[in-house]
Amino acid sequence: MVKMIMVLIFLSSCNVANDILKKKMPNEKGPKVTIDSRSIINGFELIAENPEFCPITIKVNFELTNMRAESSTDIFIIPARAKNFVVTRIRRITEAKYQFRYTYIYNYGAHQLNKYDENFKYYLPFKRNETILVSQGYNGERSHQGEMAIDFEIPKGTSVLAARDGIVIEVVDSNTVGCPELKCKDFANYILVFHNDGTFANYVHLIQNGSKVKIGEIINIGQVIAESGNTGYSTGPHLHFEVFQQKMSNKVSLKTQFLMDSLGHAGYLIEGKTYLKNY
Ligand SMILES: [Zn+2]
Repeated sequence: MVKMIMVLIFLSSCNVANDILKKKMPNEKGPKVTIDSRSIINGFELIAENPEFCPITIKVNFELTNMRAESSTDIFIIPARAKNFVVTRIRRITEAKYQFRYTYIYNYGAHQLNKYDENFKYYLPFKRNETILVSQGYNGERSHQGEMAIDFEIPKGTSVLAARDGIVIEVVDSNTVGCPELKCKDFANYILVFHNDGTFANYVHLIQNGSKVKIGEIINIGQVIAESGNTGYSTGPHLHFEVFQQKMSNKVSLKTQFLMDSLGHAGYLIEGKTYLKNY
């Protein structure tokens, strides 16, 4: 679901007219960020705008002639909702002609983060007194190879509750199609949420128009955020739930503990077991 790569090429040289070539790759879903450059004394600065409600990491590849970047790194974190954020400055080294060119890729999240709240007790994402089967668990053979995701078997139209506080990053709920074949993969409705420890949660296969929340909305644990469905690559109505850290080209899927009862006990969910939510 997370798309990334966007490439921009910028050519500029001093003492001659600026020659600017910008190229954007198609970027359907996924994060949006704008990088521009503006002149400063003896060089340029790169300026970012991040319209997303979470940080974005960009990796810039510079090709510099007679210029030097101010920062030693080529990986930069752009804070959520940043405007006019100075990414780095590039300055000429000598009086001779200079030129720079760069490309960049980016994705959601602050990629240097490796720690997260491993002890967080996620709420079971359905209403009190419901008993739900975990039809597929972590690393499940059907479709969760390498994924620490959980499938909750629930009928279409079941209320989906936030498993943790967060802010809504993406909402897709216009799709109608679902089938047990890979050709349906891109038609899943979902809600992507950002947590305060830098992790993301994805609530997937929602029913058409099933989202109760909007991008940028702050959600609270236990709040109804959606109605479940069977959209996308799916063998039957269920909720696919996954928590992960986003890296530039891949996500690191994380095991999550769930609150098991009103006494505060927590544990990992097991495939084939049913769970009664009594809180
Ligand atoms: Zn799943």
